[in-house]
Amino acid sequence: KEIHKASIESELRPHGTPALCIAAEGFGDMPIKYWTEDTWPEGAKKIGAPNYTEVLSAKPYPCLYCPIGCHRNIEIQSPKKYKLKGIGPEYETLGMLGTNLLIDDVKAISIANDLCNRLGMDTISAGACIGLAMECYEKGIITKRDTAGMELKWGDADVLIELVKQIGNRVGFASIFSEGTVQAAKKLGKNALELVVEVKGLDFPAHDARACWGLVPTYATGTRGACHIRGVEEDVEMSGFYMPEIGVSEEHAKFFNPEGKAHLAVKMQDYCALINSLVLCVFMPDGGGLSFTSILNIFNSITGWDWDIQEAMTCGERIFTLQRLINQRDGYAKKDDKLPPKMHVPAKKGFRAGKIPPVNDLLNEYYELRGWDKEGHPTKEKLEKLNLVML
Ligand code: SF4
Repeated sequence: KEIHKASIESELRPHGTPALCIAAEGFGDMPIKYWTEDTWPEGAKKIGAPNYTEVLSAKPYPCLYCPIGCHRNIEIQSPKKYKLKGIGPEYETLGMLGTNLLIDDVKAISIANDLCNRLGMDTISAGACIGLAMECYEKGIITKRDTAGMELKWGDADVLIELVKQIGNRVGFASIFSEGTVQAAKKLGKNALELVVEVKGLDFPAHDARACWGLVPTYATGTRGACHIRGVEEDVEMSGFYMPEIGVSEEHAKFFNPEGKAHLAVKMQDYCALINSLVLCVFMPDGGGLSFTSILNIFNSITGWDWDIQEAMTCGERIFTLQRLINQRDGYAKKDDKLPPKMHVPAKKGFRAGKIPPVNDLLNEYYELRGWDKEGHPTKEKLEKLNLVML
């Protein structure tokens, strides 16, 4: 009943995740020109809903029995080269293959999305690779001699589609990107590596940590890097997704205020570790209106256990800490808990103009709240508390 009631009111039902584009761009959260520009409202309006829904004749495509139905089925009749009937791009794809590349043709983005799906490529990383290629071309690190004459111009939808094909099929100039942005940048040399927007080798999703400061510690300490489903602080800060039962409320959601952001990151990482482990769609609580208490009631009914909120959150913390220990075993350390250079550059205009998060302060506070030492290692006391001491 909770999900059904909230889903009727949710924008996810009529428009899916493309409903986020206009608001996210307004908050300075959406990637523009591979994280080097600050605003592009016209572009976000063209590729996001409601224009998306109209231009692509988009309809809900729900997972089995889901009343929210966030995915989209789309149909494009013209132009002929973009004829398509199938799955439409999600918000992350619109961000990374759209505004990130200054492309505002939602039909072309849909074709690139379809190609990525068929070629088995993540659209976030595909968009990051093409953004890096376009920036390197603009800066002269890649030239027409490298690309067999192709101009890698921002906003060129034909280039987007051609590069997706080359990367996915490992043919032509762009096959250099088939191992991802970091490996490509190493091969390209010069200062290409400084242009890459990643943490621990994982490209940023379409959410800017300079807009939503809770993402700073989340991305930096993410055990698989800058992941958009292992924190979702942006929804707390931009959309008012609060969970008072676990200590996530309005006071942690104030833009450009570092107070409470390390706390927010800790709570949301533990929460996501738990939710992902339950194999529960993040939109059930976040947009779908299912409270944490209800999730726990369902969990206890299925298992026959009697967990309270603290036990559930400790389970999330244990999962996250175990991942941290595995990373440490594999050589990851404090040196890897960092954000790329572009995240230290303030915006010149728009909602986050002149604002920059205090990355080191947030990380130090985060380590302390986690019960880690100054080098980011979980302390013996913390491991004992989590029953992980044998590791
Ligand atoms: S289960 Fe989640 S991902 Fe699937 S349609 Fe529902 S809200 Fe979307």
